Parts: sequence; C-alpha cells; structure tokens
Amino acid sequence: MGKETFYADGLRFECTGCGVCCKLAGGFVYVSDERIQTLAEYLELSLTEFTDTYLDIHENKYVLKSAGQACIFLENDVCKVYESRPEQCRTFPFWAGNLKSKYRWKLTLLECEGIGRGKLYSQAEIETIIKTQIQTENGPEPGSAARKKPEST
Ligand code: SF4
Repeated sequence: MGKETFYADGLRFECTGCGVCCKLAGGFVYVSDERIQTLAEYLELSLTEFTDTYLDIHENKYVLKSAGQACIFLENDVCKVYESRPEQCRTFPFWAGNLKSKYRWKLTLLECEGIGRGKLYSQAEIETIIKTQIQTENGPEPGSAARKKPEST
C-alpha cells in the first residue's frame, strides 16, 4: 500500500497539446542514453550530429537545448518529436516536485490545462510515473553511450 497523500483517490490528467510546458523557462529536460539513440534514429541523424545539434550539458548530464524560452523541438507550438519525446516530458505533470504538496500541485495546475480532465490516474500509477521521472533526472552522465558509440550514417 502507498503512503498517505493528497492524491490517494487519484488525479485526472489528459494532455491537450497546448505546449505551455514546453515553454517553461528555467528548467532542464534530461535525456537518457536510450532516448538519445531513439531520438537520433527518429530524426535520421547520427549520434554525433544529434548530440551536437540538440544537446547541452548541465551538471555533467545531457539536457535538451532550448530555443529562446522554449524547447528546441517545439515548432509552431507542436512538439516535432512527440512520439519519441523524453521521459521527463512523458511524465509531466506527475513530477515529484509538483506532487510534494497539494499547494505545489495547485501551482502546477496554473501552468497545465490538462490537469483535472481525462483519465483518472490512481495513486499507484502516479507513484510509478514519479519513479520514472526521478530515475531520468538522476542519470545519465555524458561521455557514455551517446558519444562512444560508432557514428551511424
Ligand atoms: S501544459 Fe499540460 S496540457 Fe499543455 S502540453 Fe503540457 S502537459 Fe499538455
């Protein structure tokens, strides 16, 4: 059984595709080695091309570059890699920080119009999503798979 939380009865969420979370300033989108590989393939780029074009390093971890205040993959308010988007994007808004308290969740509600509609996520489902988000942010370290694998053409 999960711990006692304000979302014990679950929370509703359905993404409307508004793109607001892709423009939240000051954040970083971390990408795993597996996701780097998937995104490079999706965009038909070599790992080196992908890394040089789309990735920065923050605190020794790969993050997506931004274009001004928005994610580099946002084009006309649409994510151009949506099917292959990173785990951090897939897990929003169910991030540990957003679910720390009811107050924090209410602040997230102001940013995300998808909260409160659509599918009801149970506490167990939400906690599984939080784990994925935390794991993604704790890894990966640069200089590993993305740069070491031979360049594909
Ligand atoms: S802010 Fe919410 S509804 Fe809008 S794109 Fe992001 S997750 Fe979807």
